[in-house]
Amino acid sequence: ASGHTLLRDPRYNKGLAFTEKERDSHYVRGLLPPAIFTQELQEKRLMHNLRQYDVPLHKYIALMDLQERNERLFYKILIENVEELLPVVYTPTVGEACQKYGSIYRRPQGLYISLKEKGKILEVLKNWPEKTIQVIVVTDGERILGLGDLGCQGMGIPVGKLSLYTALGGVRPSACLPITIDVGTNNEKLLNDEFYIGLRQKRATGKEYAELLEEFMHAVKQNYGEKVLVQFEDFANHNAFELLDKYSSSHLVFNDDIQGTASVVLAGLLASLKLIGGTLADHTFLFLGAGEAGTGIAELIALEISKQTKAPVEETRKKIWLVDSKGLIVSSRQQSLQHFKKPWAHEHEPVKDLLNAVKAIKPTVLIGTSGVGKTFTKEVVEAMASLNKKPLIFALSNPTSQSECTAEEAYTWSKGKAIFASGSPFDPVEYEGKVFVPGQGNNAYIFPGLGLGLIMSGAIRVRDEMLLAASEALAAQVSQEHYDKGLIYPPFTNIRKISANIAASVAAKTYELGEFHCEMCFVQLKQNFLVFVLNFFLCLVDRSGFSSTSTKGSRQ
Ligand code: NAP
Ligand code: MN
Repeated sequence: ASGHTLLRDPRYNKGLAFTEKERDSHYVRGLLPPAIFTQELQEKRLMHNLRQYDVPLHKYIALMDLQERNERLFYKILIENVEELLPVVYTPTVGEACQKYGSIYRRPQGLYISLKEKGKILEVLKNWPEKTIQVIVVTDGERILGLGDLGCQGMGIPVGKLSLYTALGGVRPSACLPITIDVGTNNEKLLNDEFYIGLRQKRATGKEYAELLEEFMHAVKQNYGEKVLVQFEDFANHNAFELLDKYSSSHLVFNDDIQGTASVVLAGLLASLKLIGGTLADHTFLFLGAGEAGTGIAELIALEISKQTKAPVEETRKKIWLVDSKGLIVSSRQQSLQHFKKPWAHEHEPVKDLLNAVKAIKPTVLIGTSGVGKTFTKEVVEAMASLNKKPLIFALSNPTSQSECTAEEAYTWSKGKAIFASGSPFDPVEYEGKVFVPGQGNNAYIFPGLGLGLIMSGAIRVRDEMLLAASEALAAQVSQEHYDKGLIYPPFTNIRKISANIAASVAAKTYELGEFHCEMCFVQLKQNFLVFVLNFFLCLVDRSGFSSTSTKGSRQ
């Protein structure tokens, strides 16, 4: 291949960072201007350019262009500027990008599997240029963030999530495969949009949907083996629970909206015990919202308490209560409840609204997962503050406009008593001369490390114990210095180290449970498990990988 081809291959292109020697050996001399930039200078130039854009979507497009042009530099700047760029490649900007995906579409990213490919999915997988795949993030676009059905344009989500697998978790970009399954959309606006890139039809449901998904899951295992991780992302509630249920015993699958959220929130709860006191079992939990996030978190809390106290999970669920759009979930509603709500229908009189539920249940922890903003009213927060010395309040709904309350509201209405965390980021708040730093229960704390731990250990099934291990590992990384500021999550700047720690814990748990297939690791494990974990950990921390000097710009 010619030097010209090399400059157009994002995996090997280094732009102006090709050295004199490389310019000769790779036949690119003269194809570049004479200046030689270090990667640091390239990074400085790019960040300078990015900061010129006022419109976040323009930053997104510039970053996607960079990924298409110079992959190594893309990951380098993402790693080095993670706090600044996370909101661009991920929520909230990625949401806007999905809404406008048809009009900003340039080059295809990821793999599209639509109803047209029924019967040919294995062939479609074989069209993807990479043969060794470790992680697939797949969506059907029906519930993109809090934005609803975006059909085929949901592709921005798997692409964004996988770039975080690499930037935050250290998984090789070539081992990541973003997939969008297009079964149509019920979004009228998109169906009438001339730039819409998906199938122009209403969503397939029932048997037709199930069969396409079945063929997909089968083809994935056939093509990539038993150890490929499939992360389900942003499926609507009914399909999300069903798919997870159906495939968790035959595939290595994980739903980030249900399990990832649960794990990150449980970590925040475990960490916050240092501030609010007691063990998890001493607390009473009340949720507003009983969907993927709410019931997922509730179940993981119940499992952790059960693990700590040895009480059966049927018992430990009893201190966890949920409110949905019809009021408190109680036993008299049992008949009409969706199956994932049934375990939470405890003995109690019907209660219609949140405020009365707070008064009746007297929770110490209040968690918002309703997707509806402004629902933690002044009365609700005041009631929490009158019941507790330090009420713990999580307002998890995204994006910011849907947050159950703001950080400022939580601190002022509780007169500075609340420990607060949210799904969307909030700035620190000053109240009566004291600065309160809200935590962000961002899923990006967990899934890259969890996923890395699963693929590195050769896991073949995801088990709840692994999610608990991930939560505990994250919580363990909150230091006294963080607690002193009121933080219940460690700062994002250290995320690669955090992910490596989570991965090591998950790998250790996988081994303990025997849920893995890894001939090479197995030999090491038998010799000395501790040495393995240590080596594994060191090797992760050392996976810098994206500086232009550590990997040569060679061709293959
Ligand atoms: P979902 O499965 O659709 O569940 C929403 C739940 O909220 C349902 O149980 C619904 O009740 C209930 N609800 C809706 N309106 C309500 C109201 N006015 N009063 C009381 N309950 C109400 O959605 P999800 O996937 O769980 O996501 C929910 C929210 O959590 C979204 O905003 C999402 O962005 C956020 N989230 C945040 C994170 C994070 O920060 N790390 C992670 C995941 C999700 P019915 O069941 O009666 O319809
Ligand atoms: Mn999601």
